[in-house]
Amino acid sequence: MEDRWNCIVVGAGAAGLSAALVLGRARQRTLVVDAGGQSNRAAHGIGGLLGHDARPPSELYAAGRDELAAYPTVELRSGEVLRGERLDAGFVLDLADGSREVAQRVLLATGMDYRYPALAGVEERWGRSVFHCPFCHGWEVRDQPLGVLDRGAAGTHRALLLRLWSDDVTLLADGPAELEVEDAERLRAAGVTVDERRVSALLGPGDALTTVAFTDGGERPCGGLLVPVTLHQRSALAEQLGATFAGPGPVAADAIEVDPTFHTSVPGLSAAGDASAQMPSVPGAIAAGHSAAAMIVGGLMAEARGLAPVGTPQPSAA
Ligand SMILES: Cc1cc2nc3c(=O)[nH]c(=O)nc-3n(C[C@H](O)[C@H](O)[C@H](O)COP(=O)(O)OP(=O)(O)OC[C@H]3O[C@@H](n4cnc5c(N)ncnc54)[C@H](O)[C@@H]3O)c2cc1C
Repeated sequence: MEDRWNCIVVGAGAAGLSAALVLGRARQRTLVVDAGGQSNRAAHGIGGLLGHDARPPSELYAAGRDELAAYPTVELRSGEVLRGERLDAGFVLDLADGSREVAQRVLLATGMDYRYPALAGVEERWGRSVFHCPFCHGWEVRDQPLGVLDRGAAGTHRALLLRLWSDDVTLLADGPAELEVEDAERLRAAGVTVDERRVSALLGPGDALTTVAFTDGGERPCGGLLVPVTLHQRSALAEQLGATFAGPGPVAADAIEVDPTFHTSVPGLSAAGDASAQMPSVPGAIAAGHSAAAMIVGGLMAEARGLAPVGTPQPSAA
């Protein structure tokens, strides 16, 4: 098939753009399809990305796209991949615009759906004064009264972690705190207050948080709130293509199972970034996309030259 792509990358967030850069530099015919929904777009800046600390996410993605323009074998297309199917040697993907694309390899860099608690006032503050990751956003809310919405051992751990950024941390258990005696003592020793009142809403101007309101009519000052999230696949694409999923982890409910070379259990199908991660982050996604693409290029070369494949698993030659 002359018009098939060497690789289709689904998703152009940190993982997909990083992978496409490696594929383009290796002169692989690469199609990148992206629906434009990178998960961190709500955030003011990317915390902890070396060389780009606190840079607005949209700027990073625009810069990544600009860099790809230098590589003529890479095509970036806005759109959505709706369905995928395995062929004897490769894959066919159906796009929302009605086109069908065939590729030797597919890299899923589709990110994850971050699900946060359904609480009045979270949505408009999400990724700003309400966040899931203290390493990403803790610095920006340092030295303010902070809250941790959680309970039990997870709440204890997260409240003690957030103490690194503020002396004034409250564990908002939103009901009975379910603490072991030792954990209650650890929190007390660290100066963390435990508040078991039911939370009714988050208040403050715009995307800022100033106050947590409780159902009993009380309020507590709060400049930043750490909330628990679970990450879920955004679509059935990985499942359609036959990928297997890791069991639920501390954050990801259904990360795609990959080996250390980012190959899934399906020959020719790779996955990188949040879609296959247990510790989601922009630097992690960039690194995963880079490595996944290098392994894809190595596999394509081996296939073309009749070499034994490197890493596992690879499809048989076309
Ligand atoms: C609010 C928030 C703030 C964050 N802040 C930080 C931070 O400060 N520092 C940090 O390191 N990490 C941060 N993270 C985590 C970080 O954003 C992610 O780990 C990282 O962006 C994942 O990159 P990715 O490329 O895997 O996925 P994404 O960036 O989510 O990109 C996936 C892309 O694939 C597209 N896509 C999905 N399905 C399809 C399909 N079927 N067809 C076509 N396109 C598709 C999506 O639309 C999207 O554009 C934050 C996350 C959130 C939610």
